[in-house]
Amino acid sequence: MILKGFEELKSFLATPRNIVIIGHRNPDGDAIGSTLALKHYLDKKGHLATVVMPNEYPDFLHWLPGSKTTFRFDWQNSQSQKAINNSDLIFLLDFNALHRVGFDMKNTLDAYPNDFAMIDHHQQPDAVKYMYSDTEICSTCQMVYQFIEMNHDLELIDANVATCLYTGIMTDTGSFRFRSTTSKTHRIIADLIDKGAENDRIHSNVYDSNSYDRLLLLGKALSNLQILPTYKTAYITLTDAEKKQFDFQKGDTEGVVNYALSLKGISFAAIFIEDSEQAIIKISFRSKGKFSVNKFSRNHFEGGGHDNAAGGKSDLTMAETVAKFTALVSEYKSELEASYEE
Ligand code: 5GP
Ligand code: MN
Repeated sequence: MILKGFEELKSFLATPRNIVIIGHRNPDGDAIGSTLALKHYLDKKGHLATVVMPNEYPDFLHWLPGSKTTFRFDWQNSQSQKAINNSDLIFLLDFNALHRVGFDMKNTLDAYPNDFAMIDHHQQPDAVKYMYSDTEICSTCQMVYQFIEMNHDLELIDANVATCLYTGIMTDTGSFRFRSTTSKTHRIIADLIDKGAENDRIHSNVYDSNSYDRLLLLGKALSNLQILPTYKTAYITLTDAEKKQFDFQKGDTEGVVNYALSLKGISFAAIFIEDSEQAIIKISFRSKGKFSVNKFSRNHFEGGGHDNAAGGKSDLTMAETVAKFTALVSEYKSELEASYEE
């Protein structure tokens, strides 16, 4: 755990400030939940906080309280730039390195004259002035709760803050099932329910809001599933044509990789999703046990993340990317075998 400049940050925030809060590109439930929760909390403390997201986020997160007040950097560029230029401090939530916001937004942040405060649970964080980093914690939302706790402000958590934090903890822990879910996580969740998070409504808003096309796309993805039993590996591919066939919307492929990991005997899963707009194959990796997909992705696919969940990309074609991947897994045979636990 790294806690840097906390007391200084506390004194800085003793005066009302203009604050911008940023999550990573292609934000997930934890990125949106943590940024909005922190916004609600800082607003209650008398600051003026604005959430600026690099790009679009999935429809199933649009119901979150405060969602309509956020700016999208790629789409509402002048409002976003203005908010950033007028701010005294920028919070960076749920990402460890400035490049994770994308090229254009990174250029703006590189020129930012004031300080950054990072709250994040990914490995190898960039050096910024104020930092709360802990790779042991399941979600940035749990860290925001603990940040509020360190400020002795738990009583300021209202239903809006609680709802946003619950959502990010739920999505980053796979609904409280990953190893990162601790008894403390459950105690925090209990407190968030007491403070007004309607748990049944949150689960249903996030997980029971599929379109028919999204289910058909999942069907397509599952029919493309390939298994490499020798390497305890399974992977899924989705081409741009297949995405178009089922009217792909942002977030439609979220969680699909977990179906590959749900196979008995599999400890390493990947999904390769063609993105012709960016001319890349976007990849998600998941593992069970000791096999670090963070390292695998860092070493071979320009990415990173956590030990058991990471992302990356490839500039090759789909066929070449899959060929590179299958050749690579054979080099990790013994590690992959050792990673499997009954
Ligand atoms: P997902 O596969 O769900 O997109 O991401 C899994 C985890 O890896 C998340 O914590 C996410 O922030 C991280 N991640 C995803 N893509 C990248 C990437 O390109 N680079 C890095 N460093 N982390 C990533
Ligand atoms: Mn997260």
